[in-house]
Amino acid sequence: MVGRIASVETLAEDVRQRLSGTLHVQPISLAIGCACGILTAWACAAITRSFVVAAVAVGITLFAVVRVAISAWLNRDPEGRANSWFHEIYPLLTFFYAALTGMLAALMLLADAPAGAQLIAVSYMMAYCSVTSVRTAGRPMVALGQMAVSLLPVGVACLIIGTLPALVLAVTLPCYAVGMTTMSLTVFRNLTHQLEAADTRLRHAEELRMQARTDLVTGLINRSGFSVAFEPLAAALPEGRKLALLWLDLHRFKVLNDTMGHTAGDKVLAEVAKRLDEVAPTGSVLSRFAGDEFLLATTVASRAEAEELTHAVSATVGRPVRLNGERVESGAYIGVALLPDDAPNTEKLMQAADLALFHAKVLGPHKVCFFDNSMTHELARKKEIEDELRAAIQKDELAIFFQPIIDLENGRIRSFEALVRWYHPEKGELFPDEFIPVAEDTGLIITLGNWITAQAARAASTWPEDVTLAVNLSPVQIKAPGAALGILAALKEARLDPSRLELEVTESLFVEDDENTTEFMSQLAREGVRFALDDFGTGYSSLHYINRYPFRTIKVDRSFISGPQTGKRSDAIIRAVAEMGTTLDMEIVAEGLETIEQVQAVRTAGCSLGQGYYFSRAVPDYLAALLLTQEAQRMAEQDNQPLSRLAV
Ligand code: C2E
Ligand code: CA
Ligand code: CA
Repeated sequence: MVGRIASVETLAEDVRQRLSGTLHVQPISLAIGCACGILTAWACAAITRSFVVAAVAVGITLFAVVRVAISAWLNRDPEGRANSWFHEIYPLLTFFYAALTGMLAALMLLADAPAGAQLIAVSYMMAYCSVTSVRTAGRPMVALGQMAVSLLPVGVACLIIGTLPALVLAVTLPCYAVGMTTMSLTVFRNLTHQLEAADTRLRHAEELRMQARTDLVTGLINRSGFSVAFEPLAAALPEGRKLALLWLDLHRFKVLNDTMGHTAGDKVLAEVAKRLDEVAPTGSVLSRFAGDEFLLATTVASRAEAEELTHAVSATVGRPVRLNGERVESGAYIGVALLPDDAPNTEKLMQAADLALFHAKVLGPHKVCFFDNSMTHELARKKEIEDELRAAIQKDELAIFFQPIIDLENGRIRSFEALVRWYHPEKGELFPDEFIPVAEDTGLIITLGNWITAQAARAASTWPEDVTLAVNLSPVQIKAPGAALGILAALKEARLDPSRLELEVTESLFVEDDENTTEFMSQLAREGVRFALDDFGTGYSSLHYINRYPFRTIKVDRSFISGPQTGKRSDAIIRAVAEMGTTLDMEIVAEGLETIEQVQAVRTAGCSLGQGYYFSRAVPDYLAALLLTQEAQRMAEQDNQPLSRLAV
């Protein structure tokens, strides 16, 4: 039992404080008990007319009033007053009060006061002990102490008196004390258990909350953890400092996951998290916010400091990662925004950093982009385009143009690529690069794409049988339900054989959804539709996709042919791709041919087909038909001028 009582000292500080708090939970019951004590004491003083008893009554009254006042005061604001020194002196007051009630009863017995006075004094003392042993059980030492100091004088008085009833009372009192102590300790134990159990539950709940906010792969906080930690960081931003938010998106991560597996992907994420943690200043909030996206929020003194940090982050994340001894290229796009420079609150700061990230991605791999206001204007412009594009589809402002794809062996038109154009009543001719991304973002591309395929198929059905049609397809279109059936229906309606359609897709299609894509492609391939891998060389250039999906054609991006980065390296790449095409029996199209030199170069390199301004720009359907007619005439006249410009 003693061990148990002693354990109160080893309890957690907050449990101990809450047990102390139980002393003051019901000031009203304390007030009633004290009022009874005052009444008893003054009744005894009145009956005995003794000066000593009156002095004890004065003491009981004083201590009672002070106790009730302190208890009521502590109870009014338990948390705020938890550390008040009244907590410390309160038990002392209770000891004095209890001792006085014991002394009152002892005096009544010793003075052989009238039976009524003895009765009320002893009864009050015992009732006080009973109530106090339960009421004060949260502090067992206080309860037992009070009991001892009030029972002891009565016990001693009984022994002095020595009559039989007095001796019986002297024996009864210790038994009563044992009973009360047991009760007090039982209540204390229950109370402690309950508090400890509540504490354990709280701790578990806290652990679960922490787990729910932690990302298991990296050990960083996740999205929900970030929202909890980010707000306070912004709220506590010191005067004159800025909050920098860096939004990172790993470059090529999805491909890595696809080709090397999820375990490898997880290792890379964990390594990136470790590096970010090392470079993040103390007090930063770092989170794996989504799949391959990380957020780093930290306070900085200036924009220059944010720039320095961003470059350090970019450099550390850009270092290759070692995976089972293999070197894996790593890197991130980073968008950065500052509070309060770029946004007035955290919500807008997130939007600004996200927008900056979007721009970083447009700029290319490993790029860092700081938010600036023109980005918001660009967003507004996108919204405007979206609204107008919806209307344009209704108002027939869109047209399909056709750009020939030439057989580099004999200079004949093998195919036409359908390219959409928009004749805006005020802005003039708009090119797809401006509005296709907006249509993709909003899902409008599904309606638009279906319309393009139907129109283009109708035009192609008038061309000679051996001339095919190439149509560009956005990933969003493919993911729409019934996409393959929609295309087949358009072909049927235009009476164009499926084998005369080639769908051009880019590698971005394979990044996310495997199953849908495979199903879409195999369903159409079964009907005879062909596929071309567009813009090869700009994305991941993964041979994995060429191997896995039924491609007939690879289109080498024009940046390898007519861009500023052309040279020996791009020549070698074209040659390698062309060689692969021959081996795998695929057509290789060189895009963006603008000069005869380029045409000859790609032909020598082994490309089978060519497309570009050198031959012809994209032209309206009637001019495409005219180009075909001219070609037919030339063939009939045996006027073969291979690889010449086409003009109408
Ligand atoms: P793309 O599929 O790579 O289309 C080829 C783009 O290169 C076309 O631009 C074409 O006009 C341009 N081009 C052709 N030859 C040359 C050349 O010799 N030099 C240069 N500098 N450029 C050349 P356009 O029509 O502006 O299309 C841009 C992109 O918009 C297309 O790239 C394609 O991704 C997308 N797009 C165009 N029409 C459609 C469509 O109907 N549906 C979808 N989903 N996307 C489309
Ligand atoms: Ca294309
Ligand atoms: Ca292309």
